[in-house]
Amino acid sequence: MTPTRWLAEYAWLPDRAEPTADVLIEAEDGRITAVTPLGGTGTPTAGVEVLGDATRLPGLTLPGLANAHSHAFHRALRGRTHGGRGDFWTWRDVMYEVAARLDPDSYLALARAAYAEMALAGVTCVGEFHYLHHGPDGTPYADPNAMGAALVEAATQAGIRLTLLDACYLTATVDGEPLTGPQRRFGDGDALRWADRASALADTVERTGGTGQAGGTGRALVGAAVHSVRAVPAEQLATVAGWADRRGAPLHLHLSEQPAENDACRAAHGRTPARLLADHGVLGPGTVAVHATHPTSADVTLLGDTGTGVCLCPTTERDLADGIGPARRLAEAGVALSLGSDSHAVVDLFEEARAVELDERLRTRRRGHFAPAELLAAATVAGHAALGWRDAGRIAVGDRADLVTVRLDSARTAGVPPVGAFFAATAADVASVVVDGRQVVADGRHLRVDVPRELRTAIGAVTR
Ligand SMILES: [Zn+2]
Repeated sequence: MTPTRWLAEYAWLPDRAEPTADVLIEAEDGRITAVTPLGGTGTPTAGVEVLGDATRLPGLTLPGLANAHSHAFHRALRGRTHGGRGDFWTWRDVMYEVAARLDPDSYLALARAAYAEMALAGVTCVGEFHYLHHGPDGTPYADPNAMGAALVEAATQAGIRLTLLDACYLTATVDGEPLTGPQRRFGDGDALRWADRASALADTVERTGGTGQAGGTGRALVGAAVHSVRAVPAEQLATVAGWADRRGAPLHLHLSEQPAENDACRAAHGRTPARLLADHGVLGPGTVAVHATHPTSADVTLLGDTGTGVCLCPTTERDLADGIGPARRLAEAGVALSLGSDSHAVVDLFEEARAVELDERLRTRRRGHFAPAELLAAATVAGHAALGWRDAGRIAVGDRADLVTVRLDSARTAGVPPVGAFFAATAADVASVVVDGRQVVADGRHLRVDVPRELRTAIGAVTR
């Protein structure tokens, strides 16, 4: 098979502080086979007609962006929760109303549209933190994994890779209050029954072609999640952690998004959520804590010492009035930072990335906390690693051929040096997206999904 060849006007290669001009990228069977800088770091050369069969990629080509934290159905809430005052907890009530209306068909339609919007934004891989497991009253569907299967199918149809983080969600509060009302569909009863259902889903996904193992060709992977310390009793945490460990699967959890969660955990267990999780074997190199907006100094050290990653979701944390997480302190402690659009108030990884820097500026009234290459790493290689894809997120030989090309000639990006793209570009500037060697977006259009139309229809079906 002849390799596919692209000629990037600029490409951001691994371990480079800034993009390189004129890079020939070759791929075969979805993997990068050669990366050849043709002209050094100067102005792109004109004399490259010899590369007649290469597809030209004008602008800046980045590795695929990883959206490490998503709740696909929250896309239906965008613009619908801003009428009154309130906080995270009042927003959650509105979110539960949508959750109560979804079934496997409407979930598939909504997730397919939401993932296609992500593809347009340059996302080549999404981590879906999934807890809508059962029917609205908690009764399992005939296939107990019908909802999870809908998400796998949605990502396939939208053309992006998926890590389905199947969440264990058993209780409503840190002190073990039972799930009620719309929360009933989240619960499996206990962690062992969660593990049985998650194993069945993971086995099915592996059998049908998805596997994240390096060298594989799969496009879906099942990982685990502890929804939060509110949702899994302390004595059952080790069951979820053990499942992830045995399967070599990533393990995600919501951590200290709200001060109220810290207070409740201290009252019930005499320690912070991070400490509680560490004491039950949940933290470690395969684990990613989402948010970590309100950790103590000791928690920050603990996350770093255990090798736990943190996924920041700045536009959601902004939207929900959560606060500003200690991004620089986490990085200094050795924590790998990744990014997620979480509630999808905004789907724009450029905005998430620059917010990591800009929020630090607001807090400290100083500039220059994160180098552009650090923001790139959070949006790409660290995000893929957080989702269990160790062979993606770099334009490097052997990695998956995920290429995201950003225009440098739009009203927003014209005149901007390529290294400044993370402070200028938006999702709307993504012109071309290749996932595993396959073109998914061209000329800023999704090749298979009419994204605005499908979003409108799918959201209309589950909202009032
Ligand atoms: Zn979340």
